[in-house]
Amino acid sequence: MANERLARTNQVQTTNNHKTMKNKILITGILLLLTLFAYGGDEKVKPYPLNTCLVCGMKFGNMGKPYVFVYKGQEIKVCNESEKKDFDKDPEKYMKKFADAEAKLKK
Ligand SMILES: [Zn+2]
Repeated sequence: MANERLARTNQVQTTNNHKTMKNKILITGILLLLTLFAYGGDEKVKPYPLNTCLVCGMKFGNMGKPYVFVYKGQEIKVCNESEKKDFDKDPEKYMKKFADAEAKLKK
């Protein structure tokens, strides 16, 4: 009798483990979906409308590929990584500059 009870307890535990496994798979699946969704957000990135560097104002063209990154859904181009670091020091200042430059383009 005692053995039978033990066997049943084991069975219940096994069932619980299965449930936990399923939950883990479900959570992993949801996380994966969220990650995919976050990456899908890249499509909403607004392209950089200027042909000049946002940090130093130099025209792009002759000096190789600009350094491209995305700030709050806006694509930004600067000359190189060190200028990206300048941007990072005061992003609000450069985004203000960007907004002004973009507004001028539309005029
Ligand atoms: Zn520059």
